[in-house]
Amino acid sequence: MYRTYTCGELNIEHIGENVILSGWVQKSRDLGGMTFLDLRDRYGITQLIFNMEIRPDLCEQARKLGREYVIRVQGLVVERSNKNLKIPTGEIEIETSNLEVLSSSDLPPFTIEEKTDGGEELRMKYRYLDLRRSPLQKNLFLRHKMAQEVRRFLDGKDFIEIETPYLIKSTPEGARDFVVPSRMNQGQFYALPQSPQTFKQLLMISGYDRYFQLVRCFRDEDLRADRQPEFTQIDCEMSFVEQEDILNMFEGMIKQLFRNVKEIKLADSFPRMPYDEAMRDYGTDKPDLRFGMKLKEITSLVQGKGFRVFDQSEYIGGINASSCAGYSRKQLDQLTEFVTQPQIGAKGLVYLKINEDGSFKSSVDKFFKEQDFYQWKEALEAKDGDLLLFLAGSRRNTLFAMSELRLEMGKRLDLKKNVFTPLWVVDFPLLEWDEDNSRFTAMHHPFTSAKAEDMKWLDSDPGRVRANAYDLVINGVEIGGGSIRIHVKEEQEQMFRHLGFTDEEAEAQFGFLMNAFKYGAPPHGGIAFGFDRLVALFGGSESIRDYIAFPKNNSGRDVMIDSPSAISEEQLKELGLRVR
Ligand code: ASP
Repeated sequence: MYRTYTCGELNIEHIGENVILSGWVQKSRDLGGMTFLDLRDRYGITQLIFNMEIRPDLCEQARKLGREYVIRVQGLVVERSNKNLKIPTGEIEIETSNLEVLSSSDLPPFTIEEKTDGGEELRMKYRYLDLRRSPLQKNLFLRHKMAQEVRRFLDGKDFIEIETPYLIKSTPEGARDFVVPSRMNQGQFYALPQSPQTFKQLLMISGYDRYFQLVRCFRDEDLRADRQPEFTQIDCEMSFVEQEDILNMFEGMIKQLFRNVKEIKLADSFPRMPYDEAMRDYGTDKPDLRFGMKLKEITSLVQGKGFRVFDQSEYIGGINASSCAGYSRKQLDQLTEFVTQPQIGAKGLVYLKINEDGSFKSSVDKFFKEQDFYQWKEALEAKDGDLLLFLAGSRRNTLFAMSELRLEMGKRLDLKKNVFTPLWVVDFPLLEWDEDNSRFTAMHHPFTSAKAEDMKWLDSDPGRVRANAYDLVINGVEIGGGSIRIHVKEEQEQMFRHLGFTDEEAEAQFGFLMNAFKYGAPPHGGIAFGFDRLVALFGGSESIRDYIAFPKNNSGRDVMIDSPSAISEEQLKELGLRVR
């Protein structure tokens, strides 16, 4: 028998019991007459004690054990004289009477404890050792718990989990595909799915009514802290629903997750904010509502006063950094540096300090009169002691920069409180102008339906048409998104035409779906949640990597198994990727 208990469950009630434990040697302390050893498994740590006077043989044996040896011990549970109340097993220890080495270990490349001395790259290489550490174990348990909770909720609502294929077909829409060469069909390739979108729609046509899948998706995009080439979605689809049905259903799921996993009760109903309002007030379609500091457009107020930068700008907006009039030159310079870094892209920062005595100090004193500043102050609902920050430029870029500046100020002023503020952003535009290719593309995806009342603009003013599309945003993080779909063949064909597909292209790429629409397609819609992001949000971190057992690094590499890697000439030939 390897164990009668785990390393995390013995306590004062077990005193006097003879027990068997197995686990890893975390560390040992040799105090001459006594040797103490921490034995670890995923459940916790139990202290073993070896007494030189009672069992010199065992004590000698224990001293020889290296870190991460796997051992089995037998012994008596006794009360500790020196208690550690921080851990559940901290009131007892094991007076060891038998020790057996089950597996030895090389010296690990970093310490395997709560805090480690290992660098990122080294820990990725030895991920299986890093995964022994309790912070990572906690993360994966959290992930597991959330997955179970999602399944419990959806099962309870009659959703059925159906697997869809991983080897599918490449399409030019969306992000870049990962492709897999086909040996049996030389010169042809499968693509790994960016999402099971078309399959879940087909399942609705097949009558499954409520589908879900915790599913791996693949996108060949540049990586960031919240992006991995393969990631997991909670993918869902429902038949005979309108937008509100979907929002209400999944609000329920998110609320249940918060309640059962984090013991947090969220608002009964999540607010819904139109996309236009989100862009106007926050400069982004994923506003962080933990704090206010809304953007105010002041374009018409400030133009025509002789300040060229403003006069030549499409959009001028500002935020009110409350009580920050005392900001030093250095602090303002830092903010200027922040907004002008290439990732943010602003040309410069204009400020207006409203001093405590009501006087003004601005970086554009030369161009504007006190009277103007009063107007700005009023427009931004400012009071004495506030600092107003302005950016100017094209509408699109400046809104983005303003939203980043707002988040930065929220961080500096410590306004991002430890609360969760869920929000549905609704009424997204159907189409978005793609500068690079001078054409409209689907903002969500080409299967999204337009609002009936906006259809009249589809030809004359396509950018104005709103979609039945929605995103769930929590604390400024996009957690999920979906739409009510097109379910009529002719409408889908029309949509492809608007997206610049020829009928032949549409037929070649999505003919199977449009064909299916001919055989009785129910009205349907759905949503997909980024499961890794949701778990990271629950865990309180921005990096989804910490919540994935075996993630890739920033270059898309798995440094542990060393992938991607070259394949043999033989394999290349077999795949028809080398001319013989
Ligand atoms: N398939 C979509 C996505 O991955 C989500 C959806 O529309 O359900 O973004």
